[in-house]
Amino acid sequence: MKAPNHRPTAWTAEDIKRVGYQVIDLIAEHLTGLPHEPVFRPVPADLAEQFLSASAPVGGLDPEHILVEFRETIAPYPFGNGHPRFWGWVNSPPVMMGIFANALAAAMNPSCAGGNHAAIYVERQVVNWFKEILGFPTESMGLLVSGGSMASLTALAVARHAKAGFDVRQHGLQGPERKLVLYLSGEGHGCLRKAAELLGLGSENIQTIEVDKHFRLRVDNLAVQIEADLIAGHRPFAVAASAGTVNTGAIDPLREIGEVCRRYGLWLHIDGAYGAPAILTQHYRDELAAMAFADSVAVDPHKWLSIPVEAGLVLVKDAQAMRDAFSLVPPYLRTDGSLTGVGGLPWFSEYGFQQTRGFRALKVWMALKHYGTNGYTQMLEDHIELARYLHDRVTATPDLEVMAPVGLSIVCFRYAPAVLQGTGERLDAVNKALLERLQLGGQVFLSSTVLRGAFVLRVCILNYQTQRADLDFLVDLVLREGAEVLREQTC
Ligand SMILES: *Cc1c(COP(=O)(O)O)cnc(C)c1O
Repeated sequence: MKAPNHRPTAWTAEDIKRVGYQVIDLIAEHLTGLPHEPVFRPVPADLAEQFLSASAPVGGLDPEHILVEFRETIAPYPFGNGHPRFWGWVNSPPVMMGIFANALAAAMNPSCAGGNHAAIYVERQVVNWFKEILGFPTESMGLLVSGGSMASLTALAVARHAKAGFDVRQHGLQGPERKLVLYLSGEGHGCLRKAAELLGLGSENIQTIEVDKHFRLRVDNLAVQIEADLIAGHRPFAVAASAGTVNTGAIDPLREIGEVCRRYGLWLHIDGAYGAPAILTQHYRDELAAMAFADSVAVDPHKWLSIPVEAGLVLVKDAQAMRDAFSLVPPYLRTDGSLTGVGGLPWFSEYGFQQTRGFRALKVWMALKHYGTNGYTQMLEDHIELARYLHDRVTATPDLEVMAPVGLSIVCFRYAPAVLQGTGERLDAVNKALLERLQLGGQVFLSSTVLRGAFVLRVCILNYQTQRADLDFLVDLVLREGAEVLREQTC
């Protein structure tokens, strides 16, 4: 049989509905089926091999055929984050309105570089909502990016431009200028280091500040280090603080850090990729209100707000500095906010690195409209309470040991029965083996981290379907599998 020779042409409304309804069926089947499937199962080796060895399709296939392939070879092997017992890293399930919005955004398929079309106003509105939520002034600027990494990179690029003391865009960081120094805590996210390296600051010019026993940046050490760097002739320029570290959910003392930044004229960037939305909750409202002191904030709607990836957001207080850091349009050619012309408001592409930009804002916009900040507040508070519940269960269980204060929705603990007390390496080995067993077992999914040299199991609750019973199940399973690992390793 001759392979059909498809080429892009307009579909009739009937065709769109016929295939589209099949897609909707697949989405419904996938999402409602997830809780009954293993949280995670690796892609079988032969299937992985097929994926890696197939050459580019020459003849076209019918949509039905392609959807069957999706159903059989792709849908059964998800990352895991749609499952109510997935608590790895910082990954949430997608909310339904976000899924639909993705399809609608693709149907419109605008470039959000700029212009006078609806998508631009949707993005402006979303950015405005986040200014309001995070306490940023209306005249600040922001945009949607791929995620927290790109949000922090964008913010630090503005900081570098604003604080270098010379024209970094023209001269680069090649000359004999004073070294620009960036300050992070030891618990700061890796993307901050990546960003500093990419911006040409050099990893040796990142000062890693010690954390206190709650894993928060030590402000006293920060001030001492800044003084030392000034005396050494360097140019301290920015602090990147965390509003919710990825390891333990620790929130740096933002207010105090803000004061130090003000005293020394440093840029304060806050990485709120995970934690910033918690400002909506009663538990964290006051502590996170200090985000308003920052010069820039990174937030990840695709983390705790359950927007389908990718959706990161950066806010910068000094809109002019943001534009100056990125715009390649000479000032006399910039569009300046005509709401009636073709150009429209100043283009987003002047405020960040991307030129053609997707309509990311629609999924954030639809989800926020659907749940409202009230709906999100309830969900976040549920997660915070679930984390505290798990913490209490772990504390009350003799063979388990809590390894960090609960921060936001993260609990770090380990399996530590009496026979293993004081055996650092054995404890690590047992917990590593236990983690692998849990992950491959498909009943729960956690990740791990290392805290003060100890290997720990880490639970990050971001799923609106997770219940207390799931956490009870986890505690029982850890005890059972832990005992099993211990037996195996003792034999
Ligand atoms: C996820 C995360 C990042 C990185 O964001 P991406 O969306 O993965 O690029 C940075 N900081 C924290 C605290 C995070 O949780």
